[in-house]
Amino acid sequence: MATTTVVSTGLQAFRGLHLQKPLYSHVRGFSKSLRTCTDKQQRTWHPRARPTPAVPERFTVTTPLYYVNASPHMGSAYPTIAADVLSRFYRLNGSEVRFVTGTDEHGEKIELAATDRGLSPIEHCDALAMEYQSLWSKLDIKYDSFVRTTQPKHERLVQTVLNRVWDNGDIYKADYKGWYCVGCEEYKDDADMDEDHNCAIHRKPCEEREEENYFFRLSKYQDQIESLIEDNTAFVSPSSRRNEVLGWVKDGLRDFSISRASVPWGIPIAKDPSQTIYVWFDALNGYLSALYSEDETDLAEDASASDLKERGWPAAVHIIGKDILRFHAVYWPGMLLSAGLELPKQVFGHGFLTKDGLKMGKSLGNVLDPVALVDGYGADAVRYYFMREVPFGQDGDFSEERFRNIVNANLANDVGNLLNRTLNLLKKNCDSTLPCSPADLPDDHVLRAAVEAQVPIVSQHFQDMKFHEACTAALVISGKGNQFMEEVAPWTGLKKGTDEEKEAAKQALVAVLEAVRVVAVLLAPVTPTLSRRIYEQLELEFDGVSWAQDAAWGAGGLSKDHAVTSKPYAVFQRMEGDWIIDTSSGDDAGDVGGGLSDEDRAAIQAEVERCAALVRDLKENQGLGNADEAVKAAVADLLAAKAKLG
Ligand SMILES: [Zn+2]
Repeated sequence: MATTTVVSTGLQAFRGLHLQKPLYSHVRGFSKSLRTCTDKQQRTWHPRARPTPAVPERFTVTTPLYYVNASPHMGSAYPTIAADVLSRFYRLNGSEVRFVTGTDEHGEKIELAATDRGLSPIEHCDALAMEYQSLWSKLDIKYDSFVRTTQPKHERLVQTVLNRVWDNGDIYKADYKGWYCVGCEEYKDDADMDEDHNCAIHRKPCEEREEENYFFRLSKYQDQIESLIEDNTAFVSPSSRRNEVLGWVKDGLRDFSISRASVPWGIPIAKDPSQTIYVWFDALNGYLSALYSEDETDLAEDASASDLKERGWPAAVHIIGKDILRFHAVYWPGMLLSAGLELPKQVFGHGFLTKDGLKMGKSLGNVLDPVALVDGYGADAVRYYFMREVPFGQDGDFSEERFRNIVNANLANDVGNLLNRTLNLLKKNCDSTLPCSPADLPDDHVLRAAVEAQVPIVSQHFQDMKFHEACTAALVISGKGNQFMEEVAPWTGLKKGTDEEKEAAKQALVAVLEAVRVVAVLLAPVTPTLSRRIYEQLELEFDGVSWAQDAAWGAGGLSKDHAVTSKPYAVFQRMEGDWIIDTSSGDDAGDVGGGLSDEDRAAIQAEVERCAALVRDLKENQGLGNADEAVKAAVADLLAAKAKLG
């Protein structure tokens, strides 16, 4: 769908659709029920724990269908990561998930982009669709359906919906004269242009055009759309966007043209092949055609409301950029109402990303390339940063320094090192074998209580799409784990304690390992590889992990006599060395010592001292050497903190 970035790349063309096999191959059978508590889990259920909020049985989420006028950029990766996180969360909770993404491939802009590259439109689209699929694979995006609006099933579905709307008396032909922006692929109102008729978004002159088009009678649905947005406060989210949409609707809905006379790269209207269907009327229907498999040919008769329901419609949420809100929150409901189909439950408009505080753009030369980012740092780091750092719905910023700082601090240190240190102590003092089961630890154990308190909170945040809060709430557990280690200092008890103190120290290790294991489950929607590695390091099976079973204390497989014999390794590799993204500004990116305020300087000084104390502690008390991951990481932190002082 039309976005505002215009970049071209040269790619070799290829023919033939190359689609990822849908994970969701039995779309008709939405029969699997929610997983219920196991005996094991009930046994460990603590009265203080709040129940994990119930999840829906079915969950359909969509990303925008990305407009293939240009290569994928971070602005397309971002909502796709969010949709994948949601999908993974709901799958982990036993919901039947349908995760739809894809590409929007028709229209004048695509034709122009293809011509620029000396390709036919379909060659261009094939290459771009492949670029998207390849990036999704790098980013660990597990979609169920990748729809392309050039697929025959989609073209059939668009005709079906159009005919239904037509039969309902909602299509009419009229002359249209106005100012047309090719970038937006729409006629612009005076409010959307300056006095020289430049598009407010593209800052380029609009063309005056006059043509005969077919129009959709959106005005007929004024009352229904107005009350949809007024009565259903969650329909447009977050709430700040709702007011904007309500404002447009209250201004009075105007019919919009659904065809073009001079755009050959599109779906011809069956009743009048001299016209092709307008890109938005075409693309929005992709959310429906995505629910069909490629070889389904009886779609024209089949795309009924009840058939679509079987396949996962309506969507629980359309995740989109705030720039395409009008099409999703106003046009799309109108089309669906006319076609007699159910409306999506929610349209969620996410914010825009900036880089180092600046709007990204080709002219500024600061476009953040998601391929470079994920190739350089791995999928988990990229996924985690954008989910943890940007409150979903608000605008967010990327700076490579902040990216490294946050991801290193949270994933490499708080989680990774905690596991590493604890396993080293287990190896040295317990022959790598758990001396007791986490379930045997007292109900009021501080880490057990932390897990039982945080799990429902994390669940609620995921369901509310507050991904940053979900990450933070999960990290509360590892934070308590680190604090607990400092306070209990099990290495002291293990070295020179009484038998009773030795036993308590060993139990402390079990508690920490169990806490880290639960953190792995809670973070699995965001950092699937890290979670798998934590499980592998603990010598537990990650496949088949479920929220109901495995986010519960004592129910995830760690038990007395469980052996962790493999050598402890860094489950999350610290990100260090040369800057990958900010290569031109690398010299000063980590050197800010000159302009520090007294307050900042004192804070960094405290950080230096804290890091130095940790290094001493690891070496002197825990008996670790320079080659141990935990020591390497602590030394790296110490050096980084010192560097900040200049
Ligand atoms: Zn424009």
